[in-house]
Parts: sequence; C-alpha cells; structure tokens
Amino acid sequence: MFENDTIAAISTALSEGGIGIIRLSGSEAVEICDKVYKGKNKLSEVDTHTIHYGHIYDNDRILDEVMVSVMRAPRSYTKEDVVEINCHGSVFIQKEILSLLFQKGARPAEPGEFTKRAFLNGRIDLSQAESVMDVISSQNEFAANNSLRQLDGYLKKQMIVLRESLIYEIAYIESALDDPEHISLDGYGKHLDDVISPIMEEIQKFIDSAKDGSYLKNGIRTVIVGKPNVGKSSLLNVLAKKERAIVTDIPGTTRDTLEEQISFGEFSLHVVDTAGIRKTEDQVEKIGVKKALSSIEDADLILYVVDSSSHIDEEDFRIMEKIKDEKVIVLLNKSDLELNIQEDTIKEHLPNKSVISISAANHSGVEDLKEEIRTMFFHGEISLHNDVYITNERQKYLLEEAYRSLTQVKNSILNEMPEDFYSIDLMDAYEFLGKIIGESVDDDLVNEIFSKFCMGK
Ligand code: GDP
Repeated sequence: MFENDTIAAISTALSEGGIGIIRLSGSEAVEICDKVYKGKNKLSEVDTHTIHYGHIYDNDRILDEVMVSVMRAPRSYTKEDVVEINCHGSVFIQKEILSLLFQKGARPAEPGEFTKRAFLNGRIDLSQAESVMDVISSQNEFAANNSLRQLDGYLKKQMIVLRESLIYEIAYIESALDDPEHISLDGYGKHLDDVISPIMEEIQKFIDSAKDGSYLKNGIRTVIVGKPNVGKSSLLNVLAKKERAIVTDIPGTTRDTLEEQISFGEFSLHVVDTAGIRKTEDQVEKIGVKKALSSIEDADLILYVVDSSSHIDEEDFRIMEKIKDEKVIVLLNKSDLELNIQEDTIKEHLPNKSVISISAANHSGVEDLKEEIRTMFFHGEISLHNDVYITNERQKYLLEEAYRSLTQVKNSILNEMPEDFYSIDLMDAYEFLGKIIGESVDDDLVNEIFSKFCMGK
C-alpha cells in the first residue's frame, strides 16, 4: 500500500543562492503550509496552479518573505497536492522553514520520493523516472537532450509497441493450444520467426546505442600521457579553460592524477591527467607514474603529448610501446617553437594513429582535436535530436536479457520444439521489456532505484 502522507524537502541545492524552493506533497500539503503562511488569502481557498505573495511565520516571528505556488492533485508533479515555497536562498532560512513544516505535520521526504510518487501514482513510467535523475545530473548538451527525450516517454512508447507484438503471439499460441480444432499452428514457426526478427533488430539497436550513450553521458574516459614537461598540464588547462593543474617547468611536478570533466558542447571528455611518465627515484612520483600506466588500461582514449621542439628518446619509445594497441591521438605540442619532431617520425612507430599539431601556449589545434575525437568515436556525427540512446545500465541489462530470450525462441523454432516452448521464452522477453518501464518490478527494486536520487526530487 502506498501512503499519501505529506512529505517535505528542500528541492534546490543546499547552498547559498538567490532563492531556495521547499516542496511539499501529499493530502495535507496545503493545510500544513497554511499553518505557517500568511498572505492575502488562505492557500486552501486559492485556485490551483496559482502563486501567492506572503510571509512564513513561526508564531509571531517572521521567518521569510516568500512566493508560494499551489498545485492541486492530480495536475502536479506527484499527482498529489503540491505546494512549493520560494524563499530566500539562505541555507539557514530554508532549514528553519523546513523544520517548521515538520512541526506542523509534514515528514521528511526520502531521496527521490517526489519522483517515486509520480511513478507510483502512474504519472510517469520507470524509464521516465530514471531519466529525471539523468536530466538533473546531465553535464552536456547530449545528455540533457537524451534524458529529456526519454522523459518525454520515447523509450516507454517503443517498449509498449514491442510488448504488444509479443503478447499477441503469446495469446495466439495459448489459444491454439487450448482450441486446436479451430486454431491451427501449421506453419506458425515461420510466422513467429518473421515477427520476432524485426523486434530483435529493434532491441539490438537500443543495446548498440548504449556504448555511444555511455561516452556521451559520462564523457569519453581520456588519459593524457607523455614525458614530464611536454605540456600535459598546460593542455589540460587549455581544454578545461581554467587553471586546474599546476603548471611548472620543473620536470615531474604533476605528482598524482587529476580528473576533470571537459565539455566540448555536444560531448565531453572525462580527462585523467597523469604524472609525467619517466624513470624516477622519487617515491611519490613513482606512485604517480604507476597510476598513469594503469589508467591507460581503463581509458577509452589516450592523448599522447610530445614536445615537438625536443627529440624522441628511450622514454618515448617505452610509452609508444605501451599504447600502440590503444585508441590514441598523438599531439605534437609546442608547435609554436622550432620543430624537431615531425609527424613522419611518430608514424614510423605508431602507424595508423592520428597526429595533430597543437600549441598549448597559444591555444591552437584544439578544434582539430575535437574534430578528430568526433570522427573517432561518433563516426563524424552525433545525432543529438533524433534517437534515444540507452544510458542506463539497468535498462541495458534488461534489453540484453529480452534479446537472449528471443534468441531462445528462434532456437526452439529451428529445432521444431513444441509450441509451448515458444511461449515461455516469449513471456520472459515480454517481462524483461516490461521491467524497463516498471511493469512487474518489485518494491525493493523501486526503492533501490529511487534511493539513488538526490534529496527533494
Ligand atoms: P607537463 O609536465 O607535461 O604537465 O608540462 P607542463 O604543462 O607543466 O609544461 C611544461 C612547460 O612547458 C611549462 O613551462 C609550459 O609553460 C611549457 N609549455 C607547455 N605547452 C607549451 C607550448 O605549446 N608552447 C611553449 N612554448 N611552451 C609550452
């Protein structure tokens, strides 16, 4: 049973800002707020979807000057009565108002509980609820667009269509088995195969989108490697457009790894800046070097920075040997200085890798780098507006399971198994797809999913 008690939380970030929003949802939301609010009208008497100026009082003491919105059920975020108090953005004031609301009968909302109620009250499905979380945490244009499309119910609609085809076949098999006199299963295997093949293709497309989806959502995991003093930290600073790493001309000063999310607008890099790779006796630096080498293995992309004004030496050979089978872009840095290392020299050791001239000092070459990454990872184009990419591990897993079940059906058809074999696996596929949108998922899972949300959402 789902309780309709009234929950309250601060919905904006808990830090100083222009305004803060405290949200209440539940059957008593308006009444509880009326106990602390004074304005021209009582909130219980105002029209729904209106906003009101007034003050929040703790007995006779004014806590803040506020604007309060009232949204009556069912036309609200949670489908319950919702009140939002816009107060000043002081953390202290917001907490005071919130604790006052608790005194008057609201209870603290759990993380994600507002969205959970929207799901449990049937306003959104589970894939949409998950995309709410993604919208909140989106860090680039792609992630924001993609989650908004999912929030719009794109995935849900696709899942419903696929499930309808499956349930039709399941029902047909069941009826035929019940009533063999009137419904024939002659040649049915061939028909079923024709039905599930396009469904499997569709599912596969979603599964395939997950890799790009992960690059786009989380950023391409990028490691910057190179000998000390070639300009790795300077490059990171140029990319991040701020002084993040400490740039010095003393070799080996970047001791540990620094991580940075760098947005190129439509996609982003999750950059790990490593310590200069070189043989060293310095213990602390050694740890950094070890980290650098190990982060190469987890990386999607390696930016190998070379100081083109210097010469290739043993250390470069060692690095090139280590990265030769990875996705690498070689950056010939310091192109503003005298050129001593040519592209050809690099290509002798790293054939098939792209080599780009850059200068971290005068910020040149960054656009070329961006273009190269776009080509490498997104075949030159990113479709930000058409398709939905799967960016959620739970959804990806369920799609894979559904695909597996349908492969099983195909095998049963091929091996001319009895028809009830088909329906068992069809039913599994139907349920896996259903779990994506929150059909037949149990309470524990629902709780787990929503507990990952932030407070007040
Ligand atoms: P790291 O040890 O590889 O991180 O190298 P840094 O980023 O600390 O740079 C080492 C030195 O090279 C610093 O003095 C930078 O100012 C200088 N440097 C970096 N990039 C360039 C460049 O493109 N041109 C020139 N002329 N100097 C650069």
